[in-house]
Amino acid sequence: MKCALITGGSRGIGRAICCSMAALGYYVLVNYKSNAEEAGNTMLQIKQNGGDGELLQFDVADKEQIRQILGSWIETNGEKHIEVLVNNAGIRDDSLMAWMAEEQWDNVLKTNLDSFFYVTRLVLHGMLGRKYGRIINIVSLSGLKGLAGQTNYSAAKAGVIGATKALAQEVGRQGITVNALAPGFIKTDMTEGLDEKELKALIPVKRFGLPEEVAHAAAFFASPEAAYITGQVLSVNGGLYC
Ligand code: NDP
Repeated sequence: MKCALITGGSRGIGRAICCSMAALGYYVLVNYKSNAEEAGNTMLQIKQNGGDGELLQFDVADKEQIRQILGSWIETNGEKHIEVLVNNAGIRDDSLMAWMAEEQWDNVLKTNLDSFFYVTRLVLHGMLGRKYGRIINIVSLSGLKGLAGQTNYSAAKAGVIGATKALAQEVGRQGITVNALAPGFIKTDMTEGLDEKELKALIPVKRFGLPEEVAHAAAFFASPEAAYITGQVLSVNGGLYC
């Protein structure tokens, strides 16, 4: 059985990607940190549209949990293969650097960057063995441009962009592609507190994006036909460039 693992699949962009992977025919592993109710709603949406999957709760910022929970799922589900991995779970915790607490730096780096290494390394072994895989990392405009108040988040996302390009070169010959999606402003819980009226004036398309519009790009990278596209960063930002 072919599976797609989406980290942070309980809400926002991750939920939309879960649904798009189910539509591609994947058995969807919906990871989440703590919001069991919303994770259940994602699963309901998948099933209502004729798909299937299961919930996999672990904290992507905790390498021990990744090893124990994801590691043992892989060991005990030999007949299920993770063919698509979407590293989507992320947080922001903004502050000007002069006032940024160590904890803000550490949490954002662990959740957005370290998670890429620990989750992907576990899943990669199976992809290498089967000589096929699609790894999609959700980064951000912030990681391309750098945004004031987000040295932690910009550093983490820029780190994932570098890792995307490096890993793409390591695994290209094994049929595995590694790409990144860089959303601009997307309507989710993460952008809820932002002044949409003021910000949308800066965006050529004059609106925030929808999670489904990011999911559409993820489905493109996940498709078998995208085999010759790797190491790329695709912006989904309504034309809001650096
Ligand atoms: P939301 O805040 O709406 O959702 C975050 C999701 O990530 C939730 O499912 C949450 O789980 C999960 N999550 C957070 N921390 C962890 C963790 N430690 N372990 C496991 N899961 C975790 O975010 P968005 O949908 O807006 O963002 C998704 C991705 O897109 C992020 O990487 C973000 O940085 C990126 N992005 C978003 C943009 C936007 O405008 N929204 C712009 C650019 C990039 P739970 O429900 O359990 O809390």
